[in-house]
Amino acid sequence: MHRLLLKLTATLLLHLLSCAAAAAAADTERRIVDLTHAYDTSTVYWPTAPGFELTVDADGITDQGYYYAANTFRSAEHGGTHLDAPVHFAEGRHSTEQIPLRRLIGPGAMIDVSTACAADRDYQIVVADILAWERSQGRTVDDRIVLFRTGFAARWPDLERYLGTAERGDDAVAKLHFPGLSAAAARWLVESRRVRAVGIDTASIDPGQSRVFEAHRILFAENIPAFENVADLSALPAAGFQVVALPMKIAGGSGGPLRIVALLPDG
Ligand SMILES: [Zn+2]
Repeated sequence: MHRLLLKLTATLLLHLLSCAAAAAAADTERRIVDLTHAYDTSTVYWPTAPGFELTVDADGITDQGYYYAANTFRSAEHGGTHLDAPVHFAEGRHSTEQIPLRRLIGPGAMIDVSTACAADRDYQIVVADILAWERSQGRTVDDRIVLFRTGFAARWPDLERYLGTAERGDDAVAKLHFPGLSAAAARWLVESRRVRAVGIDTASIDPGQSRVFEAHRILFAENIPAFENVADLSALPAAGFQVVALPMKIAGGSGGPLRIVALLPDG
C-alpha cells in the first residue's frame, strides 16, 4: 500500500514536471519575436545591387541511400535584413567582425513614427520623435539599441510601395522614396546620447531622397552600427525588451546578412 502510494506520487510529480517544461517551452516561443525578412528571390535589394541567388547543389537520395541537401548562395552585403558596419561610410571604423557584441545585443527602444510616415513617405525622423519616447518612458535612449518603426515593413516586398520605385540601376536611386533619420537627429544622437546601435524597417537609415547619406556618415564616424530592412516591429512594446542582432561574421565586411530578434519579458 505504502509502495503504491509512493509510485503514484512519483508518477504525478513526473507528470507535473513535464507539464511545467512544456509550458516553459511555450513561453519561450511566445517571448521571441523574429524581426527578420527571409532571403529568397523576392528579397529587396538596393537598386544597384544584384539580388539574392540560391543554387541547389544537391537535393535527393544519394548512391549510399540517404537523403542529402546543400545549396550555394550569393548575396550583396546590403540586401534584405542586414547590418551596416561603420566602415560602410566611415574609413577606419569597425568592419563587420570588429563590432563589439555589446552593440549587437542589449536593451531595446522602439520609437513608433508610423503615423507620420503613413502621411508622408519622405518623412524624416526628428529629435522631437526621440524626445517624445524619452518623455513617455521617463528615461533616455542611452545604452539602448534604438529601433525606428516607420510601418514600411508592411509594404515588403512590393518595390513600388516599399522603395518608391521598382526600377533597377543607377537612375532608379533618385526615385527612392521612404522615410529615414534626419541629419539633425543623427547628429543629436551622437552628441547628446550614447546608443549601442540603430535600426529601421526601411531600406536605409537615411531617407530615400538622401543624396549624401548624412545619417550613415554621422553615426558610423562614432562606430554606431545600423540595422536596415528590419521586419515588422508592431509586436514590440516601446521598451522593456532585449534585442539580439547577430550578422554573418564577414572579415573586413562593410555589412552582412542579419538575423535580428527581440526577447519580450515574461507574462
Ligand atoms: Zn546597408
